Amino acid sequence: MNRIIGKYKGSEEGPLLVITAAMHGNEPAGVKALDLLFKMLEVEPVTNPDFVYKGEILGLIGNVQAYNSEKRFIFKDINRCWNVDFIKALLTAEESSLQNEDHEIRQVIDHIYAEIEMTKARKLYLLNLHTTSSDNGIFCIATDIKESIRIAHDIHAPVILGLMKDIEGTTLHYFTETNMGIPTVAVAFEGGQHNDPISVRRCIAAVINVMRAIEVISPEHVENQHDRILQEYSASLPEVVEVIYKFPIEDNHTWQMKPGYKNFQKVKKGEVLAMYDGKEVCSPSEGLILMPLYQAQGSDGFFLVKEVIEW
Ligand SMILES: [Zn+2]
Repeated sequence: MNRIIGKYKGSEEGPLLVITAAMHGNEPAGVKALDLLFKMLEVEPVTNPDFVYKGEILGLIGNVQAYNSEKRFIFKDINRCWNVDFIKALLTAEESSLQNEDHEIRQVIDHIYAEIEMTKARKLYLLNLHTTSSDNGIFCIATDIKESIRIAHDIHAPVILGLMKDIEGTTLHYFTETNMGIPTVAVAFEGGQHNDPISVRRCIAAVINVMRAIEVISPEHVENQHDRILQEYSASLPEVVEVIYKFPIEDNHTWQMKPGYKNFQKVKKGEVLAMYDGKEVCSPSEGLILMPLYQAQGSDGFFLVKEVIEW
């Protein structure tokens, strides 16, 4: 599989929308969604002569090598490498000297800078499509830019604020106006379980909702039947939440989450949530649990979030 899943050029001027999939190689749903989306966009003007797209789209695979081997990554997680100094060094390095996943990151960034240059875009939107190992990881991650929160909200999945301060080096950290040279707004979408066919449909819906939110298509264009899946899922969940607590797991410690916790489930202060090295881990406050860790690997046991009413 090539890094470029597709490109699309609208008939009118507009922003550059970069959509990445398989930043983690074991997340094929986003790739399938983008593949289908580019096909839908090719057909749209045929069936709908009034269709207008404003600007350009570039769809990219993040980690091609890992994607081809169906692994999260080969040597390192490329969604934890986007520190400004590291990327700067990467951009000036001799390409043949790059090792491990570094050539993947370099190619992603080279493609995006080249596309900005070529399209002369005056604004950049970045949408990262991800999926998770668990069944119910469906949410959006916004940066602290107001427009990012608004776009994430329009995706129709719960929006998590304040997650970026607990993680370093994600694409959301790097894709800013300072680093990209033009106004830049980034959002990430987690579309559900890695190999669930419905995750593909959720990713398609998320992309179309983003295109509507940033007004590169009119709301009545591009059929969006899959949006119903997101709307139904999110109906009983908070629209915007903020991270209030994270339980860090250090290396060489044993972690066992109590069974049955689901994302956005209410927990009470003092409730026993897990065992850490055989000792009880109690919830430090009331809140909603997010990303309870049931798999063997991971450095975050769980997050607590609370609903944000005004955002
Ligand atoms: Zn991912």
